[in-house]
Amino acid sequence: MVTEIPTLEQLHALGAAQQPTYDDPAAVAAAVTRLRTMPPLVFAGECDELKAKVAAASRGEAFILQGGDCAETFVDATADNVRNKLRVLLQMAVVLTYAASVPVVKVGRLAGQYAKPRSSDKETRDGVTLPAYRGDAVNGFEFTPESRRPDPQRLLDVYHASASTLNLVRAFTTGGYADLRQVHTWNSEFVRNSPVGQHYEAMAAEIDRALTFMQAIGANPDEFHRVDFYSSHEALLLEYEHAMTRTDSRTELPYNVSAHMVWIGERTRQLDGAHVEYFRHIRNPIGCKLGPTATADEALDLAAKLNPTNEPGRLTFITRFGAGKIREGLPHLVEKVTAEGVDVAWVCDAMHGNTFETSNGYKTRRFEDVLDEVQGFFDVHRALGTTPAGILVENTGDDVTEIIGGGEELDELGLAHRYESVVDPRLNRVQSLEMAFLVAEMLRRT
Ligand code: PEP
Ligand code: MN
Repeated sequence: MVTEIPTLEQLHALGAAQQPTYDDPAAVAAAVTRLRTMPPLVFAGECDELKAKVAAASRGEAFILQGGDCAETFVDATADNVRNKLRVLLQMAVVLTYAASVPVVKVGRLAGQYAKPRSSDKETRDGVTLPAYRGDAVNGFEFTPESRRPDPQRLLDVYHASASTLNLVRAFTTGGYADLRQVHTWNSEFVRNSPVGQHYEAMAAEIDRALTFMQAIGANPDEFHRVDFYSSHEALLLEYEHAMTRTDSRTELPYNVSAHMVWIGERTRQLDGAHVEYFRHIRNPIGCKLGPTATADEALDLAAKLNPTNEPGRLTFITRFGAGKIREGLPHLVEKVTAEGVDVAWVCDAMHGNTFETSNGYKTRRFEDVLDEVQGFFDVHRALGTTPAGILVENTGDDVTEIIGGGEELDELGLAHRYESVVDPRLNRVQSLEMAFLVAEMLRRT
């Protein structure tokens, strides 16, 4: 088994894509040195537990729900925001669990999702060119030279923001908030004005009756009172990820201890690149995005390199074709990977292949396209007799207006009302819940 982690210098020598250009190498080195002394945010044993659950999902015995912001920001790492994000994911999970009768593996894009790949290194506005915003881990969103300068101190800020977010998530998920008796509470302020809220309320009432019955017969398992919730992010910045890699004292194997699961983005999955090289050494469950240009041979090469022992649950392929391409593009990939006996979990990222810009300048997606991509994903897997293991969404617990369509019939003009994302558009709370009900229907039919 490969265990010796390459040094940062060795990784950079491979020509790492999508890294910031810092102007003060000594400050970068100081931040990395400091990060190496920080306590882990997650334990290796928790990562292994998630790996086992991903393996179960790849066999159809569970379903993965991965969701959260495209990009977290430091100012939004507040108690209210974290609670709202967690709440909408718990609501989606309970809908999927109840309607489809499968355990849902809950994975947040949170507590570390602060670095973004960009199509261009620079951004020009009104004749002024500055470094592109690469996420709060690198620079500020504000379009000024000071804010856009990549600042290595931000790597430490990522650690602290992630630690406080994860601490709050752990408190919420084990300290009573995630108790199934709270299904109604999660829906408060929301029921009155939305049909999907009422749909949810009816389901919550059924769950309540079932819980009362279970308790009356003396069954009151721990699972009614707490949930397992895992953190994930795209491991993009080599400095941060490398500094947050530790050898597990029990097994002496290296883990990325900044998140339970980390993934390789569509722009950094080069077979001989630094990211794949880093990822093949860590023992976490990992994801790799596959877009419409990915060939079956590339997928097989990635699997051979990232999971040479074919360990179940280790590798998730997160496909992001777009609604218009998935039915044509996905079958060949799944067919060939399956024929070679490669063990992967297939997750559908229903967002990133469906992004476009409106005439009034907003980056958006159509709710209908997102749904259609998930439907295509289920159709392909059903036709091939393979297993759809989960979905990935970009969403938020707030009533933002970033994605058009859905039950509220948000249109292009409506986007201006409350568009808050600094990178990609997210499903709002109503759209997230609508999606959960619709995906539960699809899941029930598989
Ligand atoms: C993302 O998940 O936010 C992202 C950038 O995705 P991709 O790498 O698939 O473009
Ligand atoms: Mn995104």
